[in-house]
Formats: sequence, structure tokens, C-alpha cells
Amino acid sequence: MNRFMADHMLKRSCEWLRLMGYDISYPECHDDNDILKYCIKNDLILLTRDYEFYKRYNKSIFIDSTNYEDQVKEIIRMFPPDKSKFFTRCPVCNSELIDVDSKNMDNNYISVKSNFKTVKYCKKCNKYFWKGSHYKKIEKEINFFMNNI
Ligand SMILES: [Zn+2]
Repeated sequence: MNRFMADHMLKRSCEWLRLMGYDISYPECHDDNDILKYCIKNDLILLTRDYEFYKRYNKSIFIDSTNYEDQVKEIIRMFPPDKSKFFTRCPVCNSELIDVDSKNMDNNYISVKSNFKTVKYCKKCNKYFWKGSHYKKIEKEINFFMNNI
């Protein structure tokens, strides 16, 4: 399974790709040298909009499109997604989500608890994800990507 690093110009695409199960890091620093070192150390494919940056690393891919929808399509065309991995990764931090019983949620989530027996949880962000109305919108957008590549 390929693992990726997205540059700072691909933040929005990066979040969408994580929702589709791609293991895709996002730089915590702004120093190109440090980003490259991290890619080499972790054997990551670098996705970048910066042509000069692209030329510096043999496992990099130059992303041509300027808007996130085209960028996502460009990437999933090269690396087809695994549908069984959809919604398994936190879009915020890239951690793998775990299934938890909704009983563990506090009472701010009463309606979620009554509608869903299990929800996804990101330990790092302490954030829950469930298949509510927001999820339907995300699913629709992902289907749009998948049907237009
Ligand atoms: Zn997270």
C-alpha cells in the first residue's frame, strides 16, 4: 500500500483522500528540506504542486490541477482507491479510525447514540464520526470523484 505526503498547496485534496482511505501525511513544518527528509525516511510518495520541489525527489509526483476536485481525480486515476478503505481514516490527522460503541459517547451526542450503535472514533483528535447527514454529502462527493475519473 502506497503512503503519501501532500505539500501545503494540497491541503483540501489531502483531506478528501484521507476520507477515501489514503494514508497521506501533511507537513507540520514549512521547511522543504525537512519535508523531503521525512519523505525519504518514511518512504513516502510526495504529491506536490511545486515543480522545483518535485524535481528534488525521485518519488514525487507533480500535480498539475489547481482546484481540489481535479487534484483528487488526478491522484485517484494514478492510484486507484480501495473502496473497503473508505471512511477508515481521520481526515484531520490521518490516524486510523476505530469502531466504538456509541454508548461511550457523552450526553452531548444523545441523538447520535439513539440512531447509531457503533461510530468511528479518532483517538488522536478525540473526535467521533458517524453516518449522519454530513456523511451523505461526503459520500456524494466521493461518488462524484469516482464517476468522473
Ligand atoms: Zn484525527
